[in-house]
Amino acid sequence: MPSLKVKNSGETVNLQNIFCVGKNYVDHIKEFDVPEKAAEIPKEPVIFLKPTSAVLTDGGKVKIPELDGKKISDNLQNEVELVIVIGKDGIDVSEDNAMEHVYGYTVGIDFTLRDIQAEEKKKGLPWTTAKGFLTSAGLSEIVKKEKIDDPETLNISLKINGEIKQNANTSLMIFKIRYIIRYLSSIFGLKQGDIIFMGTPAGITKLNPGDIVEAEIESIGKLIVNVA
Ligand code: MG
Repeated sequence: MPSLKVKNSGETVNLQNIFCVGKNYVDHIKEFDVPEKAAEIPKEPVIFLKPTSAVLTDGGKVKIPELDGKKISDNLQNEVELVIVIGKDGIDVSEDNAMEHVYGYTVGIDFTLRDIQAEEKKKGLPWTTAKGFLTSAGLSEIVKKEKIDDPETLNISLKINGEIKQNANTSLMIFKIRYIIRYLSSIFGLKQGDIIFMGTPAGITKLNPGDIVEAEIESIGKLIVNVA
């Protein structure tokens, strides 16, 4: 089971389930060249999971997997995301009580094999391969929630080789943290050590070998990874 360090403390958190919210920023939904229907704003959150083997920590390398010596994709892309770390088990958690279940926050990158995802979308298949491959879940150190006044007013950005590609604010999330905690806890239950990727703003970009990807969220910190 992977674990994450807690910033400025000797503590670590053992990670459990990795939930991800898709389509949670309007500008990202609209940046896809997809049929009209797929570009609609969702009325309920789009949820998918990554396996814990996908975790990649600061300073690591993200890599397109190979099968029989051949890369399975030629379009690896970045998605910078606010990530929630759950600190307390809960089922049917109300929005009023939701923040009691939060331990802290990290900077995340939901690495995506966009060509595979496009094929999966077209065929109506799950996104597991596009979203859950080894090294697909980039995560920084955890900042405890007490250090963050309001996680829904933070600047969120991502640079590739020093050039800004994503630049937004967590206030633009369609589904808010309290809503997502209520939703996930009612359907799946939430456990201490579960994490939730909260979706990405616009600016997804094809990555190339050797690229340096630097994700940052105000008051939380940075996550820097290289592309293998
Ligand atoms: Mg995402």
